[in-house]
Amino acid sequence: MAASLCPKPHFVVIPWPATSHMIPIVDIACLLAGHGAPVTVITTPASAQLVQGRVERAGQGSSASVTVTAIPFPAAEAGLPDGCERLDHTPSVDLVPNFFDATTRFGDAVTRHCRGLMATRRPDCIVAGMCNTWAHGLARELGAPCFIFHGFGAFALLCCEYLNTHKPHEAAASLDELFDVPVLPPFEFKLARRQLPLQFLPSCSIPEVRLRELREFEMAVDGIVVNSFEELEHGSAARLAAATGKAVFAVGPVSLCGAPGLLDSRADSDDARRCMAWLDAKKARSVLYVSFGSAGRMPPEQVMQLGMALVSCPWPVLWVIKGADSLPDDVNEWLQDNTDANGLPASQCLAVRGWAPQVAILEHPAVGGFLTHCGWGSTLESVAAGVPMATWPFTAEQFLNEKLIVDVLRIGVSVGVTKPTEGVLTGVKSGGGGKAKADVGTEQVKQVLDMLMDGGVDGEARRAKAEELMAKAKAALEHGGSSYMNLEKLIQFAG
Ligand code: UDP
Repeated sequence: MAASLCPKPHFVVIPWPATSHMIPIVDIACLLAGHGAPVTVITTPASAQLVQGRVERAGQGSSASVTVTAIPFPAAEAGLPDGCERLDHTPSVDLVPNFFDATTRFGDAVTRHCRGLMATRRPDCIVAGMCNTWAHGLARELGAPCFIFHGFGAFALLCCEYLNTHKPHEAAASLDELFDVPVLPPFEFKLARRQLPLQFLPSCSIPEVRLRELREFEMAVDGIVVNSFEELEHGSAARLAAATGKAVFAVGPVSLCGAPGLLDSRADSDDARRCMAWLDAKKARSVLYVSFGSAGRMPPEQVMQLGMALVSCPWPVLWVIKGADSLPDDVNEWLQDNTDANGLPASQCLAVRGWAPQVAILEHPAVGGFLTHCGWGSTLESVAAGVPMATWPFTAEQFLNEKLIVDVLRIGVSVGVTKPTEGVLTGVKSGGGGKAKADVGTEQVKQVLDMLMDGGVDGEARRAKAEELMAKAKAALEHGGSSYMNLEKLIQFAG
């Protein structure tokens, strides 16, 4: 009794400023608030609305105990264009080092702000996005524990820990030579260096000194918060805890923190309404949803090969296209002529060029399959909605996630991509590969979509498995479920 009367610790949550990182870490803030802990989310002015919108979407009283604080982001001082406050707003890869410089200066401002909080609202625990390496020094100064949030799943983090420790990629003779990553027996995983997250590639746009800081930060923190649930990743969270010697808290799927079916407040309301009205007119499980994350772009020739598969397949398709403005005129004309931007209920292929309300789309009963780039946010949102996937990894840890989806969980079918998508750098506005040729042809896409949407016995088995995992995902966050209990443990650890 006495323990429950104690005030809960005050969490300061500091997202790494990139859209797809901010979404889940703010949801974690809302979940902590839902468990009664006061939370301050520290962000920048340009992102404050996104953060506030998610807090309001989560509702359930959490908005009352989440304070959103915006601290100016020193973009200009670091040589970035004004208003460039998220990595995915950085206009070119050359400016990535500047973005890291800006976040270090931002860290100084956040530290000053937190010192000021000591008198009134003392921070008891820091949860920081993975590149906010300065957060560890801040936590030590405040005498508070520091947790890292990477945005990756536990399996991918376990693979990264193995790669950091054993470095099999450094012994590989070429970028294509396959080597074992034996992290989850009896499953066997073979990967090539070019399929690994950016920090393991010889041509990484993040400066060497920053990569060292990132590794030092992850080794120094008190624990790891993961957007996942214990029943999903075959013991990866426990193995990660053993491999790193750190407390690991799987508290997801965090996308379930909002009321079911609520639209993402970032979705342009016209786009969102159009998507939902279009879906309402479709039969149950008939729609293929196609999206490659917050920034995923393909070379124009690849867009065409994919597009020809999508407009000729027998299922209605909802296709989210990023970077349409930078596609050549002939490709855009083809898209205009062959897809429907108006969302007429009878149309077969609805193209969305803005921000789609992905969680609400995946939860819609009309959606029967998801062609995804295997970003961890998208993967887990699909799991939480019970939707099987066709996997087309682009970059980052997405090839690792594909192994989990296809080989371990058996809820996906692989498109068969072996190389990262040309011109893509996660989280940065990059060109989309210019003149690069298409790696995946129309026929290959059609065959995989057939397997996903109409895959006979195997397809039914994938769907049944996906639905089973959806039920487990929901149960994990319910009172007494594994993620619910891990949130309680995290709060106790911090208190
Ligand atoms: N997302 C969305 N609408 C879009 C594109 C993306 O809501 O039009 C959300 C999606 O629901 C997910 C996140 O953006 O939460 C993308 O994260 P993920 O880890 O899948 O991919 P990334 O963007 O990091 O490549």
